[in-house]
Formats: sequence, structure tokens, C-alpha cells
Amino acid sequence: MNVLLVYPGIPDNTYWSFRYALSFQGKRAAQPPLGLMTVAAMLPSTWPKRLVDMNVESLRDSHLAWADVVLVSAMLVQRESLAAVITRCREHGLRTVVGGPITSSLPPSVLGADHVVIGEAEDIMPSLVRDLETGSAHPVYQAPERPSLDHTPPPDLSLIRMHRYSTMTLQYSRGCPYQCEFCDIIEIYGRKPRTKPIPRVLSELDQLHAAGWRGAIFLVDDNFIGNRQRAKALLLELTAWQMRHHHPFRFTTEASLNLADDSELLQLFEAAGFTSVFLGIETPNESALITARKLQNTGRDLLASIRAIQLHGIEVMGGFILGFDTDCEDIFDRLADFIQSSAIPIAMVGLLQAVPGTRLYRRLVEEGRILATSTGNNTAAQLNFLPRMNPSSLIEGYRGVLRQIYSCDAYYERVTRFLSQCQSATRLQRRARLSLTSLRALFSSLFRQGILDRHRLAYWRFVLTAATRYRRSFGTAMTLAVMGYHFQRITDQLCNQRS
Ligand code: SF4
Repeated sequence: MNVLLVYPGIPDNTYWSFRYALSFQGKRAAQPPLGLMTVAAMLPSTWPKRLVDMNVESLRDSHLAWADVVLVSAMLVQRESLAAVITRCREHGLRTVVGGPITSSLPPSVLGADHVVIGEAEDIMPSLVRDLETGSAHPVYQAPERPSLDHTPPPDLSLIRMHRYSTMTLQYSRGCPYQCEFCDIIEIYGRKPRTKPIPRVLSELDQLHAAGWRGAIFLVDDNFIGNRQRAKALLLELTAWQMRHHHPFRFTTEASLNLADDSELLQLFEAAGFTSVFLGIETPNESALITARKLQNTGRDLLASIRAIQLHGIEVMGGFILGFDTDCEDIFDRLADFIQSSAIPIAMVGLLQAVPGTRLYRRLVEEGRILATSTGNNTAAQLNFLPRMNPSSLIEGYRGVLRQIYSCDAYYERVTRFLSQCQSATRLQRRARLSLTSLRALFSSLFRQGILDRHRLAYWRFVLTAATRYRRSFGTAMTLAVMGYHFQRITDQLCNQRS
């Protein structure tokens, strides 16, 4: 059976697309579709497979003509593209199977596929494969429970062209022990972290290394330190692996802010080659954190926690949310000031979204405040629920924060403060290896930002500062300059779009 795996397009108008930054490197997407590549490895080896990631290539009629069945995986933010894929498959008389996080957020009838897989694939695939072979597949497959990751196969790397992506991905764990009210991760993957056996993680690294990959790897865990003891054991092994292979990789992951409380863990992060970490910081409004049950962020000096991580040479990327019930009109200035003081260059600020399936969604349904289904794009200036604050004030205030923090001066000031804070850390220098891709990005940046762009004066001031005061971190500085270009372009679009 010829299986076509399709990953629908992610909208460009979100910070997470990294579209404008990728163009400097000549890359087409940030990361490959790891979930689909893993599902592909669970299919019978005798089934011919092809993968089309619509973020790097078009889905052509010839792809559809080749296929007997189409497997699609999507997140909520890909809903529009997914619907178009399903329609085209139907026009070609093709059977479709949809899986991925979107199936936990929307009812099967809305998705329009022949077969819908809800939950994680590991325990479902044997019966789905058997039923597809015998032509007796059911409309809906629901995972009976959350599977162990002990036998999850490594992703099928042969299905992608690695050079199209800026980062490779690897998953070590699923689930997070916390209980943030707005979070759909804990509803889908649970609050008991499940981890892959360490030898399996190392063999996935071996596989990437053998395939020729060097550079960035994103450990796409819900919370890498959900189980701290196991994370520490893995980090020790990662450090040894990196040393054996002369540090070919720099790692990024997602974690909770209490990473800052454990100096041993931070040292292990640094030694293993983690150069950045994404943290859900959400808001400096303590009462909002308490109401949202983001309790791991409460009762602490948030700025001090962020600094503790940065002092290990680890760049903190921060997630922030506006629109909590206890947010007052002063939240906009408070958040912009907070981000500026934090020396966090990449601040992902979004409006609160009530995603179906979350405790927040259930509460707002009870309170009669849901207005529409979430798009899954929290950087769009759209609300899917009735906030306590005047909705127009909230959207205008949100745009005001974005304008402020992504003004050239404010952005370069944050990057400079970050560079100065961690300039003694050794890893920061190690992360900026010279490669053809980085050279291409450098020259492209000098031309596009330094000559063509209207903010070129601020750019050259920053480049000169980086070249004279932070020479050993110059590669990092230029990477962040390019990232700033992306964030400024998306901010311009968001601020100019009509409500
Ligand atoms: S820490 Fe992150 S992953 Fe964990 S529950 Fe909160 S939002 Fe979800």
C-alpha cells in the first residue's frame, strides 16, 4: 500500500513560523514534522512511503496519484491547510487518516477525514494498519491510554531532506506535571512525564550524526525537566556523547521556570550544550499566575530566575500572555517593562486563547464567554472568548506591547544586555560555529539589514557594538539580529492588520 504522509502548512503570520529569519539562511522551515516521521517508522516496512511537508514543498497531483492512502498530522493552527488537503484527497478518491494534536481539540465530524486517530499513535497503529489492509478501518480510533515511550521507534529520516530545515528535532519525553489552566498539553499528554530510555535517545543522536546533521537540535518535549532526576541522568549521557563526538550539536528545549532553582541541573544543561531554552513565563501579574494555576512561577523574583539561567550562557526565550481575567489596564506597561528588564531577546507575546479541551475552555463555557473556536495562533490579534477587560483595549494594548518591545532600539538593547550578562559563559561562544549556512546568513544580513532596511542605522550601531565588545559572541549576536528582523516584520503585520 502506497502511503503518502502530509504535513499541512503553518500560517506565515505567526512568530513561530520564523519565516523571515529562515530566508537569511536559505532554509524553508524551522523543523521537520517529527510526529509524522515517527508514525512512518511504525508502518510496515513493505509499504512504500513518501512524505510531503507543505511548509517546504507543494502537494502535487502526482503525489496524490501515487498514493493509496493519505496520512495527515496537524495542530490546530494548521486547520485551514488541513481542510484543503482533505478536500483534494476526496477529489482524487483517496482515503484519508488524520491524527496529531488537532484531533484532541476538534470533533471528528469537523475534520472531514475518513478515519480520525485521537491520542498517541503507538498503541493504535497495529490495529489501524491491519484494518487499512483489510479495508475495514473504523471512522475513529481512540488511544486506550497514554503509551510508554519504551518502544517508540526513531523517526524515519529518509523521508525528509535535512538541508531544507534550520533545526532537527528529537523527543525525549511527553507530559508535564504542572496544571496551567490554559494548557492543552497536559490534557493530551498527561501530567505524568513519560520518558524514552536513554540509549534510545543516544541512538537517535547517532542517527542524526551519521546522516550528516550538525548544529541545532530542538528537544521537542512538553517540559524537559518534568522528571528532574531522569533529565539529569540524560544530561550526563548527553555531555559524554557530545565530548565523544567533538560537540557537533547545540540543544534547545522547553522547560518550566523552576529550572532556575536547581544549580546542578543548570550546570548539566550548560555542559551538555544547551544554548537556549523556551520558558512559559506568561506574566508579571502574580494574581493572574495564581488564577491560571501557573503556581511554579509564583512566589519568586521572576527576573532573578531568568538571570540565573542566562548566567549559564543559556538564552531564555519567553512565552508571555495577555488577557487574563485579573489583568488591568496597567498590564501593558508592566509587561513591556518586564520584558525589557529581563534581557530576553525573543519574547513570544500572545493573547490568551481558550483551546478546546482545556480547563480554561471548560470554565469559560460555563461562564458563557466562549465566542469562537480557537485558531491555535496566539499571535493573531483575535480573541476567541469574552475577556474581563474591554476587548478593543486589550487588542490595542497587546499591539502596543509588541510595538514597544520590537522597536529596533528596544530589541537591540535587550540583545546587548543578554550578551553582556553571559559573556563569561563558554557555551555561548561554542554555539556559533562557522558553517556555510551561518556565513550565508551573515552576508545576507549585512546586505538586507545593513543596506536595504530602513532600520540600518540601529543595525550598524548594534553590529559595531557586538564586533568590538562581544567579539567571542559575534555569531550569536548576528543570529539574534536576524531573528529580530523576523519579529519586527511579523509585529508590523500584526499591528497594521484590521481588527
Ligand atoms: S508548564 Fe507548560 S506544559 Fe506544563 S502545564 Fe504549564 S503550560 Fe503546560
